[in-house]
Order: sequence, then structure tokens, then C-alpha cells
Amino acid sequence: MPPQCVKLTPKLVQMAASGDSEHMPSGRVHLRIEAALLFVWTAVGGWLLAGRLVRPEAVVAFVLAYAFSMILLSPDLDLARSRASKRWGAARVLWMPYALLFKHRGRSHHPILGALTRILYLLLVGGLLWALVVGLLGARIPLWLPTGDVLAAIFGGLYMPNLTHILADRLVSARRARRKLWSEAKRAKKRL
Ligand SMILES: [Zn+2]
Repeated sequence: MPPQCVKLTPKLVQMAASGDSEHMPSGRVHLRIEAALLFVWTAVGGWLLAGRLVRPEAVVAFVLAYAFSMILLSPDLDLARSRASKRWGAARVLWMPYALLFKHRGRSHHPILGALTRILYLLLVGGLLWALVVGLLGARIPLWLPTGDVLAAIFGGLYMPNLTHILADRLVSARRARRKLWSEAKRAKKRL
């Protein structure tokens, strides 16, 4: 397979300088971890459903929101070129302003604010497109407002893969920092 050509952008230079790309799990690894956990969460949903603790609509909403977030709402959308932005195809241009606004692994990778920035950004872009379609074409698109439990399930589904991504990033970078510290201590001991 030919090596992939990567255009050097200021962000890539910044990542290379900090050794970031080596420190973090790749987009594919993130996707695998999150997909594996989707099976676990779906099993939990099935168990709650069997105990009549949740409605089927809430479980379906959670699974769909999770899959959407896992594939299309990755924290790595803060990079202009990433596996996450590629998944948007031609529509990845919609995420260019987001990548310009948010520094890689900054607020976009915050456990609470990170997913919220992307949800709000998506609502803003979606709202603008909706207003454009309604205004220009006069088309009538019905607005659907979910009930409380379904809304909570949607938010849970949107947040969970993001939290998994951030946790994986942090675990890997903590492990590397520990290894670096360990090898530095070993080198210092040799010098003594
Ligand atoms: Zn990341």
C-alpha cells in the first residue's frame, strides 16, 4: 500500500513538535474501543429494558446517538485533517471553523465541555442550514421534540464515546509520561 501523503499544516507541525501523534491512540484504535463498548452498553440497555426500567425508544435513541457520535463527533474534529473529519466526506468543510477555533487536545478534549462544544456547533450549523432551506425554498420541515427520557438517552449516547476517547488519550499519555520518567531515573542512576 503506498504511504499516505500528509500535507504539513501548522497543527501537524505543532503535533509533531510535541510528539502528540505518537502519544495518542490512532483514530482506528479509538473507533475499535468505542465500538466494543457499544456492545456492552447495548447489553446494559437490553437488561434495563427486560426489567422495564427504560422505554424501548430510549434504548434505540441511546444506541443511535452513540453510533452517530462514535463515527461523526470525535474530539479529533479539532484537527483540520484527521480520520474523524474524513468520515464527513465533502461535508468536512463544515468542521473547518471548529478546527480553527479549537486547539488540538484543548477544550475539545475536556470531559464535559468537549462534547458540548461539538453538540452546540452542530446545532448551530444545522440550524443555519435549516433556516437557509426554509428561507430560500420555503420548505416546511417539521421540528421533532423528544420526551425527557429520550433526550437524556440522546445526550448519554452522544457523550459516552467522547468520554471513552478522552479517557483513552489520557491513559496512554499518562503511561508514556510514567515510562519517560522511569527511563530518565534509570539514566540518572547510571550517571551516579
Ligand atoms: Zn484525541
